[in-house]
Amino acid sequence: MKNKTAIITGITGQDGCYLAKLLLEKQYRVIGTLDPNRQSSLHGLKLVDALSNVDLRDCNLFSFSDVQRLILENEPNEIYHLAGQSSVSESFRQPVHTMELNTRPVINFLDAIRTISRETRFYHASSSEMFGKADTLPVTEQTHFRPVSPYAVSKVAAHNCVSCYRDSYGLFAVSGVLFNHESPLRRPHFFTQRLVRQAREVAAGTRRRIRLGNIEVRRDFGYAPDYVDAMWRMLQHEVPYDFLICSGQSVPLRELVEHVLSRFGLPIECIHIDPELFRPNEIPDMFGSNQFAREQLDWNYALGPCEVMDILINARCNFGHGEDSNDRIASLVGSI
Ligand code: NAP
Repeated sequence: MKNKTAIITGITGQDGCYLAKLLLEKQYRVIGTLDPNRQSSLHGLKLVDALSNVDLRDCNLFSFSDVQRLILENEPNEIYHLAGQSSVSESFRQPVHTMELNTRPVINFLDAIRTISRETRFYHASSSEMFGKADTLPVTEQTHFRPVSPYAVSKVAAHNCVSCYRDSYGLFAVSGVLFNHESPLRRPHFFTQRLVRQAREVAAGTRRRIRLGNIEVRRDFGYAPDYVDAMWRMLQHEVPYDFLICSGQSVPLRELVEHVLSRFGLPIECIHIDPELFRPNEIPDMFGSNQFAREQLDWNYALGPCEVMDILINARCNFGHGEDSNDRIASLVGSI
């Protein structure tokens, strides 16, 4: 049987790297897109040992003709659209860019698939942020969206485009509603990476305090390699359903902070809460039910949030720690 071909946008990001590795292990031909106007770091792909086996192609995702050409030339069985502006905090600073980047490429892909490649299966990276201040927890596939950030609004718009094309044209197009997921490849401006990096620096004596935003909120944290496995399972399913992918429990960020401090032998006094890092609007608590994914996708998830933090602490190399730090990314702060 012919090997499958998959296109991954955002292949240089955390999820893109792990997904590329997973699909290569499954003998896929993997094509990753790079924006010709960005200087994307290939460091993550190197760390997962996937760089030499993926086929990287320039593609401006804002251009319908670029997206069409990409599909015509490669005849993909599956497209995983992961590229995007992925930071909630940054979305308050750059709402227009966030809206445009997180929606227009989705429509380009859906419309290109509709017109030239109807058998291609499409995955879109939705987010738990779409639920916003939900009335009841855990949220499920039936919970209404009440977005409270430009990021979440952009994801709701893209999510609705996916279901609109699925329902209108019968495409196999789905959204994975993923909750926070972390790994050593998480970008340096996100909470877990900032916490571990700064704790390490304080322990080494090169920094005085750990600067954090609101640590009283609660989130549902998971481990990225397990979550990209769920993305793949969603595109192998008989029916194009949207799924929540989450651990099923929330933890106060404060508890993760205390865990990391204890691992580095640091006192709580080295935490500096900086109101500058607070968001204009915040979700106090968020966790989901992964029952539908467990039943339908045979997907299982077992790690606790502190175990995920231990993976970051024990990693030989974290994205953005030390020599692999990327100045452009490191200049962004305040993301969970
Ligand atoms: P990430 O590490 O921030 O990666 C984002 C990817 O998008 C990178 O490859 C980045 O390229 C690319 N990108 C950024 N701007 C672009 C542009 N203008 N044109 C083309 N590509 C561009 O994000 P992630 O954690 O892997 O998340 C993947 C997707 O899942 C995102 O859409 C995110 O919003 C969504 N999501 C993530 C989580 C989570 O907890 N991680 C939860 C829910 C949903 P560069 O390498 O050049 O920066």
